[in-house]
Amino acid sequence: MSVESCPKCKSTNLIRQTGTDEPSTKYGRLICSDCGKFLKWLRDPSVSLNHLTRQESIDSMLESQKLNQWERSFLQNIYEKRSLSPKQQAKYEEVYKRVSPVVNTTRDKESADCYE
Ligand SMILES: [Zn+2]
Repeated sequence: MSVESCPKCKSTNLIRQTGTDEPSTKYGRLICSDCGKFLKWLRDPSVSLNHLTRQESIDSMLESQKLNQWERSFLQNIYEKRSLSPKQQAKYEEVYKRVSPVVNTTRDKESADCYE
């Protein structure tokens, strides 16, 4: 994965903001945490993930320590499938959203303040 940086201030401190008020095909937005510049919309993984990118995601998800044994075998089970049943898709998205890293800068700043 290539490292993205802010075109305005060259910062690589980019954060993914997700919200329920976004249009349904948009998952959230990528913004610069240093200058606050909006970089791009992020698509909902359920909309944009095709078979190949799903396999890539599963590969990286399987490296995560957050998975329990059931989720691990579930991901291995759907790995070769071209399309998922609505139930499988829902479960996959649930695991994906939990396991994929979303940087929470508010929390980072709060904990940083504690050490000062
Ligand atoms: Zn910036």
